[in-house]
Amino acid sequence: MTSTPSYPSPYSISQLIHDLENRQPENKRKPAPQRNVAPANIFPIIAGPCSVESEEQIVSIAQSVRNSGAVMLRGGAYKPRTSPHSFRGLGEDGLKMLKTARETTGLPVVTEVLSVKYLDTVLKYADVLQIGARNSQNFTLLEEVGKTRMPVLFKRGFAMTYQEVVNAVEYIEMGGNNRVIICERGMRTFETGVRNTLDIAAVPILKGMTHHPVIVDPSHSVTAKYVPTMALASVASGADGLLIEVHNNPQDALSDGDQAITTTEFAVLAAKVQQLHQSVISL
Ligand code: PEP
Ligand code: MN
Repeated sequence: MTSTPSYPSPYSISQLIHDLENRQPENKRKPAPQRNVAPANIFPIIAGPCSVESEEQIVSIAQSVRNSGAVMLRGGAYKPRTSPHSFRGLGEDGLKMLKTARETTGLPVVTEVLSVKYLDTVLKYADVLQIGARNSQNFTLLEEVGKTRMPVLFKRGFAMTYQEVVNAVEYIEMGGNNRVIICERGMRTFETGVRNTLDIAAVPILKGMTHHPVIVDPSHSVTAKYVPTMALASVASGADGLLIEVHNNPQDALSDGDQAITTTEFAVLAAKVQQLHQSVISL
């Protein structure tokens, strides 16, 4: 099948946030506290820890990032870990903690759906389903996610061409779900000085190949020291949003501590992002 799906209009992240905050009745959820919808001129930042570790941790980080202007909370409850001996997430307990954080702060939550077998459970708690880099060509999972009407944050796999990204996203769209955000998070190259090489060119190129918003996650490519620089480079590249890993105590994080910036560093970065964004849109 080679037909190109048609779209009513490009789906902006601000619109997504707006839709998320207005769809609780449909899902019979307790309404989130009132908060302002991110206006179109605010640059959307999704922030939070790699993994949900405890209720106290996720609620505290959620409050901090919200106060710094984040529009969505991230946190993994089912973690794809390279080694099976690493912390693999709190599972449904972690999802419940995310729900508490959402109810406390009003921030919608994005969390990874690691497998078709967890989809029904994750659907009960998430506002956005994350497809991780390792699952970006798990076509069965993509098809199942495509049958839902949940927004999907699709992370580019670490060895995936642009065309392969477009094809993978079509698996989601074919089920009728067009609410996809594409996320560049770095790819595997010969360079050993970074965890993954962030492909900034992916932003304008994928935006030209699809109608979906393209955001950047600099956190999975570089260590915390370089995250702010790469985040700002992403804003300048025309990205539609950022996904940043933030921890209240990175040295004790159960996953990805080296790349997590602190809540204080996040506050500084978030302000710079908005400032830069204002310059970018005035160019
Ligand atoms: C994550 O977001 O924590 C994660 C595991 O990301 P990726 O799939 O990009 O490695
Ligand atoms: Mn992570």
